[in-house]
Amino acid sequence: MFFRDIIGQDQVKSFLLKQVADDEVPHAQLFAGPEGGGKLALALAFSRYLLCENKGENDACGTCPSCVKVNSLQHPDLHFSFPIISSGKSGQKNVSDLHLPAWRTRLLSSPYFSTEDWKDDLVAENKQLNIAVDEAENILRKLTLAAYGGSYRIIIIWLPEYMNVQTANKLLKQIEEPGPGTVFMMVCHDTEQLLATILSRLQLRKVSLPSEEELSAFLIEKHGVNEERAKEVAHFVDGNVNEAYRLLSSNTSNNEHFEQLMQWMRACYSNDARTLVPMAEKLHKSGRESVKTFLEYVLHFFRQCIVANYGREEMTRLTEEEAKFASKFAPFINHLNVIELTEVIEAAHHDVSRNCYARLVLLHTSFQVHKLLRRAQ
Ligand SMILES: [Zn+2]
Repeated sequence: MFFRDIIGQDQVKSFLLKQVADDEVPHAQLFAGPEGGGKLALALAFSRYLLCENKGENDACGTCPSCVKVNSLQHPDLHFSFPIISSGKSGQKNVSDLHLPAWRTRLLSSPYFSTEDWKDDLVAENKQLNIAVDEAENILRKLTLAAYGGSYRIIIIWLPEYMNVQTANKLLKQIEEPGPGTVFMMVCHDTEQLLATILSRLQLRKVSLPSEEELSAFLIEKHGVNEERAKEVAHFVDGNVNEAYRLLSSNTSNNEHFEQLMQWMRACYSNDARTLVPMAEKLHKSGRESVKTFLEYVLHFFRQCIVANYGREEMTRLTEEEAKFASKFAPFINHLNVIELTEVIEAAHHDVSRNCYARLVLLHTSFQVHKLLRRAQ
């Protein structure tokens, strides 16, 4: 990951480059913002830049020995810490290093991944992620080792909000006064979930989602996506890069989702089992990710119907065809059922994510949607 690979974020990039030019790199920095915006990508590109032995004005060189090691995330002065699931095995320390191979694979495939993606990698299901006190001890141990290259020693902590008080307390002193050249970069989704003792010791960099235009231009230029599809995807995901990648790899266009949605809503409304059963079967066979993107599409569509109901048509993010159906369908979604409808679809998404049997989840959801659609009148 280089600065040039990051979508948008020009302001943050310039800010970070200036820190290096002015020789004022803070020893503890926090990249915070919504999922899918590029916080981890920025921390990684910045780490590469700091460690690069032949850095240019705007980016790392990519060819020096240090850059080569960063390519495979195996630089000895670049450490990663991230939440895991406690193993529960006696004698085994709960440290991130146990999952380093999976972490490298995930991060190398894309630094825009979500907490859910990582939980999938760990097969976490309903178990809680955490950064245990063992991990804090492991970080402190790493800090006692001499820096390999002699310039910077970097610790990227992804999702520090998963630290408990004990873990945080162990690290406070180091975060406040690390040794020379040691740099902490924390990457968090939600500063409100972060312990105040940690937050107060970090310089905050807010990282927002890239704009629709930045995202679609990037998809066209770097991924060879055709213009129409790139615009459609960027529009739909509202700047979330991870969602954009997922949508592109799901191979199902919004158009197919739209056809499915029309069919599903009509069948739900009339409780038409002859359509609902094969439809659930077909979606189930398309795979879990595909069911998830379909349900996300349904949620998006419901939200747009509500916006339309409140007379804000100009704000709706729908294509012409979708808007035509929405104008007929929107009256079936109103204050009498919208909250529950949303909850029902979110619950289905959650269950499918947790590996529940998608066919049954969809059938059960169809019946609930039927009742709720009837309630709107
Ligand atoms: Zn380099």
